[in-house]
Amino acid sequence: MLVLNILVLMQSEVAIAWGNEGHTAVNRVAAEKMPTTMPRFLRRAVVEIAYLGPEPDRWRSPSEFALKNSQEPDHFIDLERVSWLDPLPLGRYEFYRKLYEKRASTTDHSDDYLPEHVGLQPYITMEVYGRLKAAFREYRQRVASHQPTQAVQQAIIFYAGWLGHYVADGSQPLHTTIQYNGWVGANPNGYTTEHRIHAQFETAYVAANITAKDFAGLVGSPERLEDPFSGYVAYLRQSNGLVENVYALEKAGAFTGKGSPVAFDFTTHRLAAGSQMLLNLWYTAWLESAAPVPEHPTSVSAPVPVKK
Ligand SMILES: [Zn+2]
Repeated sequence: MLVLNILVLMQSEVAIAWGNEGHTAVNRVAAEKMPTTMPRFLRRAVVEIAYLGPEPDRWRSPSEFALKNSQEPDHFIDLERVSWLDPLPLGRYEFYRKLYEKRASTTDHSDDYLPEHVGLQPYITMEVYGRLKAAFREYRQRVASHQPTQAVQQAIIFYAGWLGHYVADGSQPLHTTIQYNGWVGANPNGYTTEHRIHAQFETAYVAANITAKDFAGLVGSPERLEDPFSGYVAYLRQSNGLVENVYALEKAGAFTGKGSPVAFDFTTHRLAAGSQMLLNLWYTAWLESAAPVPEHPTSVSAPVPVKK
């Protein structure tokens, strides 16, 4: 038991949005809501997709240092630090460049603008989305030309499940803010400044009080996103708008033990928002994958990186 407690304490030091249970549930609910217009093999992969919900949280061990180091900024974005950058650039390297320019022109706390301190959450999300869409396109081509599809099916299931992790992180307001684990700066409402609220809300409270069936009914049919990147950033901004609600609930003791009905309502709606956005992204990737690729792809906005 002591060992278990120590493990729990160690885990709670890093931001593992929604914990194991929440991530599994967000992926499961989205997978169960997939419409019949999407491929049957994917609709039947509920168990695999649910398993993959927490996958990137399995990449945080110091025993795989390079992996841990490279991927930890993927789980969050401190939107307050990039309030001057609207709209966000489409690609991660243009984002890096803007941040380094800002850092160079800032004297106070300039390291706050390092990409790894700001967080890369919308970029990894769109990158995995792109992998999924490309795999869907490959699948369509193979079906059309009567080639075997088993290998590409496995790739699609992995990308769909992996994508779910970041989308679920984005529905957790504390993954979009500098207030990620204890209030910083001016604090007129007396919110907690202790470094406990993050894990208390997303892991302990959720694990003890909420299951997939508590929010499945809040998730509807998927909608095609006209512009997945801007739609996703809007979703992150909406989540960021709820940061204070999390602190106010904590202050009222709403996440302690069995919690309060208001906490239950708030949290189930956040988890449902994650499943809904994930479902929308899967659906949009599937529909977009039917379009032929341009013969001579042109760069959208960022310069083409030099090949080495
Ligand atoms: Zn995460």
